Amino acid sequence: MKQEDWEHLKEKAKELGASAAVPVAVPTIRTGTWTRMKCQYGCPNYGQTLCCPPYAPSAEFTRKFLSEYTWSLLVQMTIPYDPAETADWNAYDRKINLALTDLVIGVEKEAFLMNYYKAFALKAGRCRLCETCNLKKCVHPDLARPSAEACGIDVMALAADNGFDSRVLRGPVKEFHIYGLVLLE
Ligand code: SF4
Repeated sequence: MKQEDWEHLKEKAKELGASAAVPVAVPTIRTGTWTRMKCQYGCPNYGQTLCCPPYAPSAEFTRKFLSEYTWSLLVQMTIPYDPAETADWNAYDRKINLALTDLVIGVEKEAFLMNYYKAFALKAGRCRLCETCNLKKCVHPDLARPSAEACGIDVMALAADNGFDSRVLRGPVKEFHIYGLVLLE
């Protein structure tokens, strides 16, 4: 990809709320079947939307899918932590999830219009576009994208491998980071 295209997409990501955006060579992205175990045993979102297991693509499929790409853009969003806001966790979680969806879909669309026609976004966390997913047929296929970790991507390693501090947070927490990935070419 041309340097000016990287700069344009990074700028677009920042306009859409990213605190950072970095190019990532897709062959360096680590995957594992263990992420699915974490989804199935321990995550309250398991089976809740078409973007999560058991509906999301398997790690095996994801490895094949990733092998068709060379470059991607990793985006980070920084969320200030305000305990008062988290009292209604459902509303809070929905708000930050939708902000991350807007960010990754915005970058995906921009890249597509720049002729990176394979552009495809993934994001951390469950789909929150509908209050309750119908689990049959997506009603927002233009916006819903699978959860990266649900597909077998090691998001913690992805962040750490690309210069971010992704260690597990222990209080007191003032802010935290969430991530999305846009596969480009
Ligand atoms: S957009 Fe709605 S129907 Fe589609 S996966 Fe998300 S929650 Fe389910």
